[in-house]
Amino acid sequence: MTDNQSYLPVSDPGALTLRQREVVLQAIKDVVESGRYIGGEAVDCFLDWLRGYTGAPYAIGTANGLEALTLIFESLALTGKLKRGDRVLVPANTYIASVMGLEKTGFIPCLVDADSQAMCLDSTLLDKAAATSGAKAILLVHLYGRISYDAEIEKVIKKYNLVVVEDVAQAIGAKICDPSVERDGVMAGAIGDAAAFSFYPTKNLGAIGDAGAVTCHDPELAGVIKALGNYGSDRRYHNLYKGYNSRLDPVQAAILTVKAQTLDSDNAMRRKIASKYMERITNPIIGLPAPWQGESHVFHQFVVKVPAARREEMMSRLARAGIGADIHYPVPLYRQPCYEGERWTDVNMPVSDLLSRTVMSIPVSPALDDDNTDRIITALNQL
Ligand SMILES: *Cc1c(COP(=O)(O)O)cnc(C)c1O
Repeated sequence: MTDNQSYLPVSDPGALTLRQREVVLQAIKDVVESGRYIGGEAVDCFLDWLRGYTGAPYAIGTANGLEALTLIFESLALTGKLKRGDRVLVPANTYIASVMGLEKTGFIPCLVDADSQAMCLDSTLLDKAAATSGAKAILLVHLYGRISYDAEIEKVIKKYNLVVVEDVAQAIGAKICDPSVERDGVMAGAIGDAAAFSFYPTKNLGAIGDAGAVTCHDPELAGVIKALGNYGSDRRYHNLYKGYNSRLDPVQAAILTVKAQTLDSDNAMRRKIASKYMERITNPIIGLPAPWQGESHVFHQFVVKVPAARREEMMSRLARAGIGADIHYPVPLYRQPCYEGERWTDVNMPVSDLLSRTVMSIPVSPALDDDNTDRIITALNQL
């Protein structure tokens, strides 16, 4: 790294927020001056945007993405759409939060290994996994920003009449671009029965703290989720369920409404950078991600595969060149100590295991300019 070269981090929420510094500060000021610090117009306004954007008829704010998932599964149990103890198909290659919400509410995660190219759930394994587990639901995780939905997944959902929950934490703005499926053109968040969003600062739409939301199609489910996040209260001082306190903060909502205005152009920029990487990273030891169609990928992360034995050294060489790199994720969720001796003692997920040793995420922030992306490409080609 020479003196006039800046460090390029894998994600840079500060830089993205400060592009809109004045409007973000004004949005915060408006909430402060409104005197309404729980719920209110700022939250309603953002949730209206989210409904319009995804096409899902109901949107409920939550405190974060994990609680969005937790409230979805709790509400599926309370409404009788699922029974506690039911099995839920989940991709093995995902962030651990994907399984925590359903596990905590009494459901049993059934892992399905990853596709080595797309790195999301391998749909060719799904029919067998559904048949042998007797699963009643599936959690679709649009990992790294890529839509995880194809004709095979659609077929299995119908064949086993699965309840479909989406984890959209990494994929807001992605949509199905696949003429071979019935749900072609549908946005992430409107594909299944309910969907969880996270607005953690580094996500494609990021708050300046924790924030989340649920979208869904069913008014009954929406009502229960809303009540659950508010101490299980369906009306004032009437507590129908043993609930949670999980609400979307109005300051975060106001900021998200501002930042939502640039979401589509930011996602287009991420795809543009990704296309450039696909074309110009020619180093044969670097495995590029699978191609994508249209807007089916929003590149929350640009994840390449490198030789396991060289990953650490490659990351430190990049760091010396002023380029950040990260690993999503170094230890598969089923090998985390919290599950030791309890679940997955004889797990067999060869692709996910291999991915954990070979993946490397490189910067794909919409704040990168042409010179920055050229620098990253050159550095990768020299590894
Ligand atoms: C970030 C993330 C979550 C959790 O969201 P939080 O807002 O951090 O609770 C869940 N699933 C996936 C895939 C994520 O990337």
